[in-house]
Amino acid sequence: MLEPRYLTGKKAEIDQFIDQFDTFLFDCDGVLWSGDHLFPGTAEVLDKLRSQGKRLVFVTNNSTKSRADYKKKFDKLGIPCKEEEVFGSSYSAAIYISRILRLAPPKNKVFVLGESGIEHELASEGVPFVGGTSPSLRRDIEPEDFGSIADGSALDPDVGAVLLGLDFHVNYLKLSHAFAYLQRGARFLATNVDSTLPAAHSLFPGAGSVGAPVVKAYGAEPVAFGKPSQAMMDAIEGKFQLDRKRTCMVGDRLNTDIQFGIEGGLGGTLMVLTGVSKKDEFLSEGSPVVPSAWVDKLGDLLG
Ligand code: PLP
Ligand code: CA
Repeated sequence: MLEPRYLTGKKAEIDQFIDQFDTFLFDCDGVLWSGDHLFPGTAEVLDKLRSQGKRLVFVTNNSTKSRADYKKKFDKLGIPCKEEEVFGSSYSAAIYISRILRLAPPKNKVFVLGESGIEHELASEGVPFVGGTSPSLRRDIEPEDFGSIADGSALDPDVGAVLLGLDFHVNYLKLSHAFAYLQRGARFLATNVDSTLPAAHSLFPGAGSVGAPVVKAYGAEPVAFGKPSQAMMDAIEGKFQLDRKRTCMVGDRLNTDIQFGIEGGLGGTLMVLTGVSKKDEFLSEGSPVVPSAWVDKLGDLLG
């Protein structure tokens, strides 16, 4: 096994590492910040990379927020960022649906299990959708719902795909709608399938866990667009004209971020220890995912 390189923060070693790349793909939560807490040194590291002419892309699996929401978050935390530099799993799904899947009438609508971030990104690509934050599905299932879902009268006949993301208002009625559309032949998609998400120094059920009942009922996995899906890498490559060998993925999670960079054949993957994965996981013998380098925290890149 190739040992990952530990960058202790010495200037020469950091400079040599950074020189290998033109583009840095940054995971957000766990790397730049944790929730609303900006890590020390984040703004300075991003500034330093920008001043060296490096291109930055912020790649997040958080489907609940749109690129515009992320731009607002960067503004609130005082870090310069352009909306075009943000690439989220909702946007990744939306551009796949609009530019590759190209759902055509009469089956051109998407049933959304998720929050407004997905809706905004679908709307930005001109993809019509139902479900999502609609109040009509934010209620308990009633006995008469079973009949109207089964006979299709409660369903939109134009739905051609089901898109699962993290839905904070998930309930049996929405799950039943999603499953009903799949049984009628809708394509099965997911923004991301993360089992957990970090919040308040703990882990909570992620999009993959929230959508799991539909996967179980249907008996097949969705096509997913968040890290480590290479559909997302391909979309980023297309948008930013990446030279993969001169690109480094910086992340805090082995099975999403680092896996994403390795599978994508990037020149480097850099692990930071301020998020989900711990160093014992990739330093232990036989670890399936090993970054090319690691730092204790992003601020160490200041050298
Ligand atoms: N999904 C949700 C809903 C989240 O809130 C988060 C983190 O805030 C994530 C996924 C993981 O995001 P990232 O890929 O930026 O670590
Ligand atoms: Ca993260």
